[in-house]
Amino acid sequence: MSPSCDQRHQFLTSYLINDSIAIDAGSLGISLDLAAQRKVKHVLLSHTHVDHTAALPMFLENSIDMAGTRVTIHGSDVVLDSLRQHVFNGCVWPDLVHEKLNSRPFFNLATLEAGRSLEIAGVRITPIAVHHKVPTMGFMLEEGDAAVILSIDTGPTEELWRRANALRRVDAVFLEATFPNSMDDLAQMTKHLTPRLFAQEVQKLSHPAKIIAIHIKPTCYEEVVAELQALGLPDLEIGLPGKEYCFV
Ligand SMILES: [Zn+2]
Ligand SMILES: [Zn+2]
Repeated sequence: MSPSCDQRHQFLTSYLINDSIAIDAGSLGISLDLAAQRKVKHVLLSHTHVDHTAALPMFLENSIDMAGTRVTIHGSDVVLDSLRQHVFNGCVWPDLVHEKLNSRPFFNLATLEAGRSLEIAGVRITPIAVHHKVPTMGFMLEEGDAAVILSIDTGPTEELWRRANALRRVDAVFLEATFPNSMDDLAQMTKHLTPRLFAQEVQKLSHPAKIIAIHIKPTCYEEVVAELQALGLPDLEIGLPGKEYCFV
């Protein structure tokens, strides 16, 4: 990142949970120092788009631990097949899926199934299918009494909100707002949200929660933020890359 780069702009997408779990790997291999990258042992991929996977190969290279725990990459069958075919194919990047280091795989692959929860380092994670241009998961994250919803790339969706409303509480929702209202056609075509659609999605949540807008197109940033703020939502925040959020 150059010094002139606007720190508000989110070009690539990764979310770090409690230092050891990452949701998406768009920036994972380039935005954390080596020590921080080597603490990450689980990466869950929402979908295959490159803004969510771009730095996965760099991350894996940086996180190789000859003697220690291998990283596990979690994704749907579609995501894992795509990694095998289009990333670790011996052309774009070495075939680390099949090659071994000291007779052990470079990393583990684990299948995510929509609606099936898994527990990692004390965090209960439930992937939920959302509506995007390719098969995509949103995530419910629960730890202790706290619950956070992370819906990174999606158009209007239902199941995620139904499952969120069944929780005892929701502390925060990270929800995408990619395009301005003037690009409604493009949002519908690519299955993303505009501020108008964002407001409709937020209304589907029955819990009071902090709403954090993410995944705003850098080229439309000011327009999207102005439209989001004009919604008058009481607990809306514009997500800031690099910011640490705490919910207990
Ligand atoms: Zn996408
Ligand atoms: Zn995206």
